[in-house]
Amino acid sequence: MYFYRSLVVLPQMPAELDQLVEIAKNLWWSWEPEADQLFRWLDEELWESLGRNPCAFVLSLSQERLAEAAANPDYLDLYQDFVKRFKQYNSRPGWYEKQYPEWKDFSIAYLSAEFGIHESLPIYSGGLGILAGDHLKAASDLGVPLVAVGLLYKSGYFSQIIKPDGGQEAYYPRLNFRQMPVCPLSRPDGSEVRVEVELPGRTIGLRVWECRIGRVRLYLLDADTSHNSASDRLLTGSLYGGDQEMRLTQEILLGIGGVKALRVLGINPTVWHVNEGHAAFSIIERLRELVNQGLDIDTAREVIRASTIFTTHTPVPAGHDVFSPELLLPYFGDTNHKLGLDRDAFINLAYDTQRKAFNMSLLALKHSTFTNAVSKLHGETTRGMFQVFYPEVPVEEIPITTLTNGVHIETWLAREWVPYFTRLVGESWRTPDSNPEAWARIAQMPAADIWETRKKLKAKMLAKVRESLLNQRQRYYASPSQQEEIESYLPSDTLTVVFSRRFATYKRAYLLFTDRERLSRMINDPEWPIQFIFAGKAHPADYEAQGLISQVYQYSQQQEFRGKIVFVEDLNMEMAKYLVQGADLWLNTPRRPLEACGTSGQKAVLNGAIHLSTLDGWWAEAYNGENGYSIGKGDVFENEEQQDYYDSLALYNTLEDVIIPAYYRRNHGLPHDWISRIRHGWRSVPPMFNTGRMVREYTDRFYVPLMRRHESLVADNFNIARRIKDYKNLIIHNWNAVQITRLIVEEPKETRAGEHLQISAAVTLGTLLPQDVMVDVVLSDSFGRLLENVPKVAMTMVAAEGPHDYLFSALVPLTQGTFGFTVRVRPSSPDFMHWLELPLVKWAPEF
Ligand SMILES: *Cc1c(COP(=O)(O)O)cnc(C)c1O
Repeated sequence: MYFYRSLVVLPQMPAELDQLVEIAKNLWWSWEPEADQLFRWLDEELWESLGRNPCAFVLSLSQERLAEAAANPDYLDLYQDFVKRFKQYNSRPGWYEKQYPEWKDFSIAYLSAEFGIHESLPIYSGGLGILAGDHLKAASDLGVPLVAVGLLYKSGYFSQIIKPDGGQEAYYPRLNFRQMPVCPLSRPDGSEVRVEVELPGRTIGLRVWECRIGRVRLYLLDADTSHNSASDRLLTGSLYGGDQEMRLTQEILLGIGGVKALRVLGINPTVWHVNEGHAAFSIIERLRELVNQGLDIDTAREVIRASTIFTTHTPVPAGHDVFSPELLLPYFGDTNHKLGLDRDAFINLAYDTQRKAFNMSLLALKHSTFTNAVSKLHGETTRGMFQVFYPEVPVEEIPITTLTNGVHIETWLAREWVPYFTRLVGESWRTPDSNPEAWARIAQMPAADIWETRKKLKAKMLAKVRESLLNQRQRYYASPSQQEEIESYLPSDTLTVVFSRRFATYKRAYLLFTDRERLSRMINDPEWPIQFIFAGKAHPADYEAQGLISQVYQYSQQQEFRGKIVFVEDLNMEMAKYLVQGADLWLNTPRRPLEACGTSGQKAVLNGAIHLSTLDGWWAEAYNGENGYSIGKGDVFENEEQQDYYDSLALYNTLEDVIIPAYYRRNHGLPHDWISRIRHGWRSVPPMFNTGRMVREYTDRFYVPLMRRHESLVADNFNIARRIKDYKNLIIHNWNAVQITRLIVEEPKETRAGEHLQISAAVTLGTLLPQDVMVDVVLSDSFGRLLENVPKVAMTMVAAEGPHDYLFSALVPLTQGTFGFTVRVRPSSPDFMHWLELPLVKWAPEF
């Protein structure tokens, strides 16, 4: 039968429980420890059968059950207490309001292709999305005025089935948005809010859904409306589905539609946070708006730069989206025209000469004041990767900074810890103010309490995993004995290792299987056995990663590994919580330096798991020798096979000689060495790697400075923006003439520490004036690497030697050691936020 339309009919809410629907629609419940109790009480069976999704749940509650609850004083107490805390949460002044009262009426837009907030809103594929979700939760906790924009995918990301041969089957459920924590927005007259985006030959209408995450609003765009053609309705069909053109279209809907949606809603953010290149087309739309207001394109670009921050998450070039001009231009024909750019100039906004295409990350990079990578090591990798875009700049100075990711503590911490933590430190373990003193005290929890709780969490996880394995088996008509067999799987006193994340080749799920016999000996050790749980989806177009899944699955079916290595299908946030909370050992094996950050280990350590990983991503900066274990010493080999081989040796050796004994050696039933590592983990990981710290840093380092920057640039009819534009144009057009023609170095008689070196440079500036540039002496070590923390010595103009020639000079203090030095000229303007805003440098040639 064809439905003309579907209707959602809510039960009549008793007056006593009139806030229940509103509570269900605000994802605050997803991290509030008491929420489960609030809903479960009403109908436990229904609650579980609907996957603990409050939105679907309140729709399905029976009228009788509601009436009963409304008459029950115990339930009403629970309910009223919850409502009170919900109201308090929403109304109490947050950190931001106290810290930045003068900026409280400004807002920040956060754009991302995926958001992982709760499993009932499956619009995430992995770490990137979950990070975005955790970012919104912490912004809400801190009162940071963030509004977020994304897409609402009809089938979300795919669901995963593992077939009996180990093959991954992707299926795309049609989600019922009415049962999800999202509401369609309508205008006061009842008509739906709609955003229009031009595509070649047609206009797409997008519906806007609102998702509430505490105090933060996330607006999700949806093309599945009757205004669009059947094929266009599929444009928001699934996350990262389809071909290159689908990808391009989705990014247009996100970037361009995202800006338009905020405008339609009357929201005018000052700062724009582009989370990964997917959302970078927002820059084009914002440029178009400014040009439409009468600004010239170059000044508009200055304004955009002054208000944009870009976070990049991908350490390999192939991970950055590029579109060929042939594919791209038909989509933007109209826009180039509106921007007053010809086709070449349009493509040049982000033309990547290496990949010969329009590069989304480059678009964002060139139009942001701040670009950040997501761990220190990733910062280094990214500066190296983007060096092609800064040919004259030493890699150390490339203006890509680092802000390391964290996790939202309440989301990932098992409820079982809450009474202990609260008793020890009150509320200060929570995301907004999670601090080192609190965690130092938590680390002093009695060993017996730690171990008891760990055992409970592990048992819960193992039960959940067995349940999932059973479901999987039942799908394929397993016999009763095959079903029963599962009960003997994964005994709870065996050291349990979890590997759970997106399957991508660089994460090397295969590393563990390098030496099968050695693995088998460890697993089947009669005294000190070890067992493994694997979980994760591979992108449907990534056949290599799917091959890894079937390989792992097939191992899990072999006699020697049966019930001791298992693969759990369809990893989502719910299963992820069980796993990070219940694992003894959390395993990660990325090939350094390809893990941008990784966050799953942070969730696991928070819950008292021990982390074992190569020194990559966040672990390279967090590992201190006592708070977990490393695989190898962070060496990078020329050749992947060699690296795999050495890393696998390190993995086996550490497991056999260090980890397994630490787990099984007991004193009065307690593994003291193990628990000591849990304590070190608590002391060092959650106080730093949490999204409270992370969002505060984003605010202090980027959001608020950009608010200031933007406001000063646009004041007086864009006065400073125009001045910067004029200055840059002047420099760009005259830079060719700039040259260092001579260096004069006067060494002291003896080059000893404390003496000075007199360096002078003759510089030709063409039509530029000495005040347009900065000339400095730059010091490097004997390998030509810039010295860290060595001040560059600015030279002063001492004489004009001709109409265009000047002599600059400086005294350079000498410190002990071997070093190199040279002189360079660079643009300099008091209006710049950092000197590389115009990345032009002229170095002294070899004389
Ligand atoms: C945290 C999380 C990730 C991130 O995993 P990493 O390997 O640490 O990057 C991926 N998937 C899910 C479901 C998660 O919860």
